[in-house]
Formats: sequence, C-alpha cells, structure tokens
Amino acid sequence: MILMQIDMSMSFNKIPFIRILLIITFLLSATNITADDSFQRVQRTEKMMDTYFTITVYSDNPDTAEGAITEAFNKIKEIEYGLNLYNGDSELSRLNRKKILKSPSDDIRKNIERALYFSNLTNGAFDITVQPILDLYNRAFMEKGVAPAGETIKRELKRVDYRSVLVKEDSITIGDDQVITLGGIAKGYAVEEAVKILRRHNIAIALIDAGGNMRALGKKPEGVWNIAIEDPRDMSNYITIIPLNNMAVSTSGDYERYFDNNREYHHIINPKTGYSATELISATVVTDNAFDADALSTAVFVLGKEKGLKLIESMPGVEGLIITREREILRSSGFPEVKDNK
Ligand code: ADP
Ligand code: MG
Repeated sequence: MILMQIDMSMSFNKIPFIRILLIITFLLSATNITADDSFQRVQRTEKMMDTYFTITVYSDNPDTAEGAITEAFNKIKEIEYGLNLYNGDSELSRLNRKKILKSPSDDIRKNIERALYFSNLTNGAFDITVQPILDLYNRAFMEKGVAPAGETIKRELKRVDYRSVLVKEDSITIGDDQVITLGGIAKGYAVEEAVKILRRHNIAIALIDAGGNMRALGKKPEGVWNIAIEDPRDMSNYITIIPLNNMAVSTSGDYERYFDNNREYHHIINPKTGYSATELISATVVTDNAFDADALSTAVFVLGKEKGLKLIESMPGVEGLIITREREILRSSGFPEVKDNK
C-alpha cells in the first residue's frame, strides 16, 4: 500500500527546480487491518507543509476518530501557517525580516529551542540558519541553470551560525544577516502535536505519516505497525522492514529535492562547507518521538557515516540506518527489524 506521495507543485521551501522523484518513502505492510471487528479504520490525507499528511486511526467509535482527526489537522494547519517561510505573515517570516520576534508562540519557540539543542549536540551539523545557502542555490540554478561560484558560497556561509539565534524570555532574535528555516524539524513537531491531540481524544491506535516522518501510536489490534524503508535509488525496492510500536521513524535523503541530476546540490546543507552533504544518500532515525527523529535524521545525514553513527549510538533510545553513496548500509547496534531482504 502506498501511503505517501509528494506533490511537486507546492514547495514548502520553494525550491522550484528541485524535482521530486521519490514518491514512496515508506510502505505500510498491507496485512489484515484488524482482528477485532469492533475496531474501524478511519483515514484522512491532507496536503500540508509541502507534503501529504495521512492520519490513520483505529477506533470503536468512528465519530470520535473523525473529530480527533479534524482537530489534529487544524493544529497542523496552524503550525504550517506560523512556520511557513514563504508566507509573509508567518511568525517565521516576521522573525526573518525584522530579526526580532516579540511574544513568540509556543510553536516557534519550541521548534527553535529544540533546533538549537541539536545544533549544540551535533557541533553545528544541524543548523537552522542555512537558509541563505538554499536561497543562493535557488537563485543560481533558477537564473543561470548552474551551480553558484565557490566564492559566493563562501560569502553566504558567513551568514550561517546558529549561535546568533537567541531565545529569550519574551522574544527571539537572530543576527542581522541571518535567515532561518525550520524545514528540517517542523514536520516532526507537527506530527507530535497531532499525536497529543489524538491522545486527548482517547485514541489509542493511530499512525501519522508526514512524508518521510512517521509516528505510530499504540499497536494495531493484531500487532505492531510494520514500515518498509525504501531503497533511495530504486523505488520498487525496499531496504528493510521495521516494527513501529509507539515509535517514530524519519528518513532524510538527497533523492526528493535536488537541483542537479548528480544530486550534488540538494536541500540538506553541510553548514561547515556551504555545500550539500554528499557522504550519505539516506539517513533513517528511529526514536520515541517524531520531533527528535526529524531533526536527527537531517543531522545524521549531514554528519555522514562515522560521526552520524557515533551520534546515534551515543543517544539512549535512538537507533538508525544509513546508506552511503557507495551503497554501503550500516545499522546502529539496536536497530529494530522485522525482516531483511538484503
Ligand atoms: P524533508 O523536509 O525533505 O523531509 P529533512 O527533514 O531532512 O527533509 O529537512 C530538510 C530541510 O531542512 C531543508 O529543506 C532545509 O529547510 C533544512 N535544512 C537543510 N540543511 C540543514 C541543516 N544542516 N540543519 C538544519 N536544517 C537544515
Ligand atoms: Mg528532518
């Protein structure tokens, strides 16, 4: 069963020349839905934050399920509205324009605080101030159809530094030259907020899929959710299947949004160099919440094979699978798997 499709026309990051070749990130095992007839499946898909969000709920009360899903989608819409880089009214846009945001919402505050936590943890591999580099790539590929000059990249790289982002009691400030993006973390946050709402409605069994980010709540009546991790270079194949019992999984890759056919220039930037991270083609992180999984998969993608695996192993409750450009597949010591087809 194909759960996720990415739309090419609506780019959260507004990168018009990036072609979205990958359509399937995860496959949900199409086993029997329920062994218990009192449970019904309620599923809805909406396009938000440049991807498709699908919420699937199993409940003995479909009305409760429908109401919970509606509330969850409303919350995701609210998050999208506040954190969208390309909506001039959004809190994020105001911060990027004025360099100060007074009385920030919980949504933007929590995203930036968590992002800075991961910046510190990864020694700057995760850095939300990379947006000037992405803007530069956009301009170069759009206007001239070629990569930007090395000198220009170097110049723009001076604007990248998470340490100039300050979260204060009643305001958030960034440096004069800075522009931030929450594209590497906000979808995971939205998924976790949706989970909170489902829980509040006493939903015990659900799966939320947000294009590369998935979070399972509870167990399916007949067992855990099984999620296939797709082969980044062959859509018809998958690398492995993992059981997702009350956990989240996030995959970051170079294969969805890129500027050139070699995928040398894509949307995940190494903040140390100003170039896209190219050691890996895919980084998957499994942990107990989608917020951290999202940020960590992006961070591990930047860190590469050795440092990425080291980071994963250093964090209790975090597992990962990475694929290098040479197609070497590496797993952390406790990586959960149902079955391996390799
Ligand atoms: P996707 O959004 O395609 O699921 P990711 O979660 O890996 O993929 O996030 C990629 C996005 O993260 C980019 O579009 C950009 O907005 C942002 N980003 C790029 N490089 C970095 C980085 N080094 N640190 C933090 N965020 C980044
Ligand atoms: Mg991410």
